[in-house]
Amino acid sequence: QAAPARRPIRELPDELVSQIAAGEVVERPASVVRELVDNALDAGARQITVKLVAGGIRAIIIEDDGSGIPADELPLAIKRHATSKIRSLAELEGVSTMGFRGEALAAIASVSEMAIISRTADAPHAQRLDARSGELQPAARAVGTSIEVRELFFSTPARRKFLKSESTELAHATEAVRRHALARPDVGFAIWHEGKLVEQWRRATHEQRMADVLGADFVTESRAVDLAAGPMRVLGRAGLPEASRARADHQYAYVNGRYVRDKLVAHALRSAYEDVLHGQRQPAYVLFIDIDPTRVDVNVHPTKIEVRFRESGEVYSAVRRAVESVLAATGGSPMGRGVT
Ligand code: ADP
Ligand code: MG
Repeated sequence: QAAPARRPIRELPDELVSQIAAGEVVERPASVVRELVDNALDAGARQITVKLVAGGIRAIIIEDDGSGIPADELPLAIKRHATSKIRSLAELEGVSTMGFRGEALAAIASVSEMAIISRTADAPHAQRLDARSGELQPAARAVGTSIEVRELFFSTPARRKFLKSESTELAHATEAVRRHALARPDVGFAIWHEGKLVEQWRRATHEQRMADVLGADFVTESRAVDLAAGPMRVLGRAGLPEASRARADHQYAYVNGRYVRDKLVAHALRSAYEDVLHGQRQPAYVLFIDIDPTRVDVNVHPTKIEVRFRESGEVYSAVRRAVESVLAATGGSPMGRGVT
């Protein structure tokens, strides 16, 4: 069989580069919500409002009361690899913000109709940037930022077809906010869908926020975890056997405030619960691993949902010991029988 005729190497157009990159970070409305809430938190927001239309497929509007973006930096905010968060490799290695890749806004803009309305404290009024036309116009709003994302994947119908029903997309988007809300009880969150308030979490203590997000039963049926081990601290609440669930839907693990899905952490938790949970019961937990940022690499996955620990054995045993010790202290009888 003849080889296909070779075509010359060409640089891809900028727009297509962004659309390809967007494939890695923007899978569905929930991915947009996660990135935009990350940005609001990095901007020091105390209140974040998420408004969705059609599960986020038609519109995602996120409003914050953070620092805002100066008008002259608005065009840069939507450029690829443009960020205010790091300037050097050294800063990347010690990064403490949620973002640092300077990719999200560019990626989202390339697969939607996006606009940013933002105002800093020293600006006389807000400015609105239309991402597609690049047009800047004076606008009205208080200090902070609103980002509007409309018609997600309108220009990439193949991707749009992968979206599920509006109610499924809404559930994923809500879950994305829930993950942030558990980590940041000092920030108020509200989620609106088509003009109706669907969730509201007011600023609260850590324990109160867990009760608000996961239900009061989770707090009464769990115990506080707090273990320090060298450069690391494991904090949070571990569910007792009676808090266990048929589905693994109350399992929240964070590394330096960032929600992660980490095999090592998941395995440590599974072994901690091995003796107290039988069958297919899934433990419930909210665990925060705080660790010297130079000992964890957060730059291994475009969405930063995976991390790499330098001393993975130490992390594994700290998580396991932290949870085992509170389970042992409560008697640890299987499936909650005899536990009061
Ligand atoms: P990153 O978060 O990795 O820096 P993004 O593409 O998400 O990249 O955002 C680009 C830049 O736009 C950020 O570095 C920040 O300076 C600015 N920005 C984005 N969202 C907000 C916001 N809600 N409030 C203030 N500044 C923001
Ligand atoms: Mg970001």
